[in-house]
Amino acid sequence: MTDRYKNLFSTLDQSALSRADKVHLRDQNLALLLRKIWAGHETTRATLARQTGLSRSSVSSLVDHLIDMRLVEERGEGISTGGRKPTILRFNYQSKFILGLDIGASHLGAIIIDLNGQVISWRQEPAPVRLQPAQSLHQLNRLIQEILDESITNRDQLLGVGIAVPSPISPQNPQYLSPTFMPTWRDINLIESISIPDNIPLLIDNDANVGALAEVWWGAGQGCNQLAFIKLGTGVGAGFIIDGKVFRGHGGSAGELGHMVIDPEGPTCVCGLQGCLVTFVGSQPILKHAQKLGLEHQKITDLLSALKEGDPIARDVISSVAKSLGLAVAGLMNMMNPERVILGGDLALAGDSLLHPLRECVQTRSLWSAISNSNIVTSTLGEQVIALGAATSILQRTLTQPNQVFTQWRG
Ligand SMILES: [Zn+2]
Repeated sequence: MTDRYKNLFSTLDQSALSRADKVHLRDQNLALLLRKIWAGHETTRATLARQTGLSRSSVSSLVDHLIDMRLVEERGEGISTGGRKPTILRFNYQSKFILGLDIGASHLGAIIIDLNGQVISWRQEPAPVRLQPAQSLHQLNRLIQEILDESITNRDQLLGVGIAVPSPISPQNPQYLSPTFMPTWRDINLIESISIPDNIPLLIDNDANVGALAEVWWGAGQGCNQLAFIKLGTGVGAGFIIDGKVFRGHGGSAGELGHMVIDPEGPTCVCGLQGCLVTFVGSQPILKHAQKLGLEHQKITDLLSALKEGDPIARDVISSVAKSLGLAVAGLMNMMNPERVILGGDLALAGDSLLHPLRECVQTRSLWSAISNSNIVTSTLGEQVIALGAATSILQRTLTQPNQVFTQWRG
């Protein structure tokens, strides 16, 4: 059993095998075999029966179903251990593709991955998402058409679409963004506004949540059971992975770290409170702070270029960001005790210039006297992290509830 299997699905499999409902049990067992084949690359029916404790006949019938779905394929014969040579089974990682969309406050991203997380195609462009929803949706639909046209030959190859948005998402109404954080999007139904055929499964989630998912599947969080991902951009949010799953909270708004008050006398925030973290470490306040000190940059990446060239003002700006962020990260670590905290977004590209002062601040303010440096790291997935995570949410759903995804897919 590979490590990625153990960490991503172990708790799920225990519950899968204890279910009493028979119809449900067949679905659970189907998903269990699918995950084993996905994680193991190559296997046989006999090995699967041994690993799962299911009967040989159940395994054969379920594997036939997976072959019908084209998710699994037979690839030649293995070595005989006495009797007939077993048939090798492989996961067909390129039988389908997934589209992941990153709707940011001021950019759009689109990614196509195969079922092993390999990036087939990637695009990103600036867009006035927060202020001009109609124009941005038009731009997004063009982007979707372009990336689908260049990466897949047949629309049947599209397994599903994951969408990340810069807003908390209510599980009851995932198609609407929060009017508090995205007021111009009030009453816009995201599902109806995006040009995707009706029968394609679609999942909408908060950007930091899917960022956390991307990290635990493919990035700096691989092998972690508990982690926090902090997305630093126009807005600031955190996504939590607990026992391999995204933790959303009661109403879907867990992780609004950006609205943790770090200075009750601080500036007024879009949410109405005063001195929220985002009023210090959001992209706009950072650029304004730099401007006051004499650095005229329009984008965080430009500020980071100045930092790389050794500009002392840029260094001061980043270390003051690290101090504010450190207060929130120390609080988060005290509450959650995560294995790892991963920073993503434009600002995370500052690397050690941000990490060093941040770790220092956290060390003086958290409950542990010695925090290993490996506890707080920057993302290794770069600008693709959110789109990749959105796509991964579809892959995760496929590997845990394949029948649900395929029923919808078949229309
Ligand atoms: Zn706020």
